[in-house]
Amino acid sequence: MARLLPPAFCLVLVGFITWYSPSLESNQLSTLRQLPYILCGLAAFVAILANHSRDLGAALIMLACYWLIRQYLQAPLDTEPAGQAYGLISLCLPLLLGILIILPNTGWRHLGFLVFISFISIFALIITSLFQWQPLWFTTLSPDLQESTFFELKVSTTASVLFLVAFILGFALPFLKNQQPDSSLPSCIFFSFITLAWFQIPHISATIFSAVGLLLIINQTHSLLNMVYRDELTQIANRRALLRDARNTGNTYALAMVDVDHFKKINDQYGHDLGDQVLKAIAAKLRQVTGGGRAYRFGGEEFCLLFKGKTADEVLDNVESLRKIIAEYDMTARDRKSRPWSQNTGEKKRGASRGKGNIRATVSMGLADSHNGLDFDSVLKAADRAMYRAKEGGRNQIRQ
Ligand code: GH3
Ligand code: MG
Ligand code: MG
Repeated sequence: MARLLPPAFCLVLVGFITWYSPSLESNQLSTLRQLPYILCGLAAFVAILANHSRDLGAALIMLACYWLIRQYLQAPLDTEPAGQAYGLISLCLPLLLGILIILPNTGWRHLGFLVFISFISIFALIITSLFQWQPLWFTTLSPDLQESTFFELKVSTTASVLFLVAFILGFALPFLKNQQPDSSLPSCIFFSFITLAWFQIPHISATIFSAVGLLLIINQTHSLLNMVYRDELTQIANRRALLRDARNTGNTYALAMVDVDHFKKINDQYGHDLGDQVLKAIAAKLRQVTGGGRAYRFGGEEFCLLFKGKTADEVLDNVESLRKIIAEYDMTARDRKSRPWSQNTGEKKRGASRGKGNIRATVSMGLADSHNGLDFDSVLKAADRAMYRAKEGGRNQIRQ
């Protein structure tokens, strides 16, 4: 849901600028016309720094498309060669963005991406040369430019279908491939369709392509922040996020230090890869913490739970139920490569289930709170000491 906020914000921005544009002075309008180059160029630059091929591809395609619009589409669409150029752009744009969606999101230094960019550049060069030489060859691509169509929509039916397919692919593929959903490409497809469909609205391409550039920058900043504050393996917040949140805890908060028991043995017995899968499974359980807590990976096989505005006594039940859930979670090693783990729901043996490929990990926890004003470092140390008492007491338990 949060991923829809930047596109929604950009849509509102587009609406506002379009409504306000009649009052803009000529020098402001010429700045507005240059804005897409600046913002999409900046988005491409950030994507290069972040080594993000998909956003770089999107920014370059949007830049090229805006340049073509400025170059060829500044005349009425029922004149030549504007109509032909319009038809060409409205077919190529969803095709290229669709290919970008299907390509794996490798870094931009990857051979596959460089081949894709070279292919587009050569294709664009050939088409542009052909277009300059004989624009009338592209006449069949021109859409029905009658103003009486549905909502004065200018884009052809074929192009509309291509936009729709690319848009659905952009949303569905990350889910099918079990990847992080991405709003950048579906937004590029949606916004460029709006530009082409309602091309008669004054300054629409400058406004929308600026918004797209802004959106790409926002999305990349968001994913960079994710990288900074999220643990790569377990995908929960990391230690840096804990130290950031520690600054806004207020006077009252509780902290639980969580350490996996005998994790070294799990690694030794099943290998490091399956050890990683155990950490992921435990992190997924900790993430479901109740009582307003938040889970962090502190480092190695140690995790933290932070409860703002709560005392240790108030969260004891929440932490205890998590300890139980983890201790009862039975993981079965399967095919090591494709799907290493599944939850063995049928079996409910207690204690160490060390059958062939079965692992049951337990955690020891130390709980401490701020006693209305203790600094974060002291609370962290108190929780750590309590956790070691839990280890000494026999593990798989909580100490305060
Ligand atoms: P204890 O019950 O006393 O906590 O014993 P332990 O074996 O869990 O503790 P110890 O600190 O001796 O071992 C922690 C192990 O965790 C050692 C290290 O190799 C392993 N480890 C740390 N980070 C990772 C990781 O990201 N993946 C895997 N697979 N293992 C990790
Ligand atoms: Mg440890
Ligand atoms: Mg341990």
